[in-house]
Amino acid sequence: MNARGGRRDALRMEVGACCARVGADPLLVQGAGGNASWKDGDTMWVKASGTWLAEAQRSDIFVPVDLAHLRTAIAAGDLDAVPRALADGALRPSIETLMHALMPQAVVLHLHAVEVLAHLVRPGFTCPAPAPWCWVDYHKPGSALAGAIAACLRRQPDAQIIFLQNHGVVIGGADAGEVEAILSSLLACLRTAPVAPVAPAAPSGTAASAMAPLTLVPDAGIQQLALDPRLYKRLRNEWALCPDHVVFLGAQAECHGDAASFTAARNAGARARLAFIAGVGVYADKDFGAARTAQLRCYYDVLARQPSGAALTVLSAPQLAELLDWDAERYRLAMAG
Ligand SMILES: [Zn+2]
Repeated sequence: MNARGGRRDALRMEVGACCARVGADPLLVQGAGGNASWKDGDTMWVKASGTWLAEAQRSDIFVPVDLAHLRTAIAAGDLDAVPRALADGALRPSIETLMHALMPQAVVLHLHAVEVLAHLVRPGFTCPAPAPWCWVDYHKPGSALAGAIAACLRRQPDAQIIFLQNHGVVIGGADAGEVEAILSSLLACLRTAPVAPVAPAAPSGTAASAMAPLTLVPDAGIQQLALDPRLYKRLRNEWALCPDHVVFLGAQAECHGDAASFTAARNAGARARLAFIAGVGVYADKDFGAARTAQLRCYYDVLARQPSGAALTVLSAPQLAELLDWDAERYRLAMAG
């Protein structure tokens, strides 16, 4: 093997190991969320849509795409360019591929990391960041977001950290080690202690039959969304915080004051797959699945880190509408199962 081939394999292994590490931490990655890439000459290897970073060392989750083509498109201002996969197969490049091509660094990691996200959903973000950084206002993931990142990089070409409002963070480095070091420093300065959990007021056994066919979601953090009155209030008013949250869980939460209200809504034809009963619990249908559960847990983790009384920035009605009528997202949801 020549030196270039050796370096190429080392980079692939290094990035794969980094992805598996961050992918195993639910405070960093939720299900199929987040993505990573590395560049090798005119090729960029990027995570395939719908695959899980946690699987990086167990299965092939990366797709090679034509980087020269993307860079030519970007230079011409075309941020709607469709990435050209350089391999046959069923996997499609991540819908956030342009974001990776825009970053000049060899290795790029994009995460919806809870400790960062908890700050990005509030106005007035500042950060003693460990590397040059810039801030991008909320835009729909895809070409609109790529356009905003391109503008940010024109203003600050040396940025290695890009904070995406209500969305996540992008980190670029010469290698996976540098990217992970920046991530660790960021987490250390942004970490917030979650609020202490509230105990259930009474056993919720009486609600179990009334909630059929939904059953209690088996996650103590998620249950806090119904049990803690402060979180329940946020849930009703500040549900639509992040694009993945809305895509996976819908534009609104179905909230009820008691199980009888849920039954009445069901008798009237409502068919929610997820329901929140104040002071009682959070219930979901049997097909709710791991990907949605991971999103809901992320929502709890973000809310539990908010200072009491802090106003959050929620997505507007037009932002919700554009998110939910999106074919690429439907494909991603289907892949996530
Ligand atoms: Zn993202």
